[in-house]
Amino acid sequence: MAEVQEWDVIVVGAGPGGSMAAREAAKAGLDVLMIEKRQEIGAPVRCGEGIAKVWLDEVGIAKDPGWISHEVKGARIVAPDGKSVDLTEAQAGNETGYVVHRDRFDRTLAEQAVRAGAKTLLKCAATAVLKDGKGAVVGVRAKHWDTELELRAPLVVAADGYESQVGRWAGIDTKLAPRDINTCLQYELVGIDIDPDFNEFHLGMQAPGGYIWIFNKSDDSANVGIGVNLSMISGRAAVKGYLDKFIARHPNLAKGQNVETVAGAVSVCFPIESTTADGIVLVGDAGRMVDPITGGGVVNAVKSGMVAGKVAKECHDASDFSRAFLQRYEKGWRELCEEQLIRNYVAKEKLITLSDDIFNKVIDALQGYRIERVTTMEILRMVQARYPEVVKELESLL
Ligand code: FAD
Repeated sequence: MAEVQEWDVIVVGAGPGGSMAAREAAKAGLDVLMIEKRQEIGAPVRCGEGIAKVWLDEVGIAKDPGWISHEVKGARIVAPDGKSVDLTEAQAGNETGYVVHRDRFDRTLAEQAVRAGAKTLLKCAATAVLKDGKGAVVGVRAKHWDTELELRAPLVVAADGYESQVGRWAGIDTKLAPRDINTCLQYELVGIDIDPDFNEFHLGMQAPGGYIWIFNKSDDSANVGIGVNLSMISGRAAVKGYLDKFIARHPNLAKGQNVETVAGAVSVCFPIESTTADGIVLVGDAGRMVDPITGGGVVNAVKSGMVAGKVAKECHDASDFSRAFLQRYEKGWRELCEEQLIRNYVAKEKLITLSDDIFNKVIDALQGYRIERVTTMEILRMVQARYPEVVKELESLL
């Protein structure tokens, strides 16, 4: 017989999305249980660990040397032929500013949730959703060590990451085509020569449909990783060959030693149609909110989690957990994140078709310019002046 518990909100998954949902709902006075299938929050790490700095204050996360590993000034975009342009931190998007210790970062967010009043259960995996007679989700079945639990709540926040099953169990379509998946591999290399001020993004067919990143963890160590589009490689195993070849071609990296291997995947899809059903919302990676160009998802997980936590309170006050009422969650997270997701999806669809020659020409045309001073139109004019045929290729990106 399963042990039955009653809560206001069950959060499945203690990543950044789950912890922020739990924090906001608990802060609003709700009884929140956050369950996590792993025995330790944040570990093992599955992340390049790059995040921007600017958004942290907005979401109430205090900058803490405990989880900041390294700080950079900007991003270096490197063409296949080795030429590069530097972007400032502000231009470089959601993944450049700090390189963090993701395990400690996630733990800090979970601690915030706990301090707000949320309860946690580790080594507790959701195994099914509970539904009422009308098909509304009313909790989850879970296994905590050897104990079967029936965790009942009128609202479930599915924050169970890229491999999310909770949404699917609830009947929400989160399926991804191979073209909507980037498969990733990363080594943390120590004892390497890098420019500590710039994270690097290497473009072109050395990482088909994606890119290779060097995210600096210190002056002589970095996460060196690759994301490639699943539709453009022979199988997931091929990703290792691409990364190893890249490192072998760069003696400054090849001299280092790997102290941690990370493998995983991110969605690079158009925003999914629905992230809600009766009694359930999907946040972060579970709701496919990853940036289709960069593969970064921490910021959107945090933001959508916060919206979910706040909407949980509104549902509670109105005693309404229907999909219709939860449209305020759809609206809330889409207002914060969707425009950029759509824009970057369209751009990604174009970028994965560009040849090395085009990347080389674009970066070449920008040599000698201070990019931070110019607008997109000016950049295009520079490219037009040198390589008019390339601007035609890029038209749809505009
Ligand atoms: P997650 O952080 O994945 O958390 C989900 C949690 O749910 C996990 O702890 C999991 O154990 C738990 N869980 C799953 N199923 C269950 C279950 N049934 N029951 C209980 N618990 C469950 N993003 C960036 O912003 N910057 C980067 O540099 C970056 N680099 C990346 C590099 C790689 C190789 C990969 C794979 C991803 C990278 N990302 C990056 C993406 C980023 O890691 C995710 O977007 C982010 O972790 C999403 O947070 P989340 O809370 O939605 O999900």
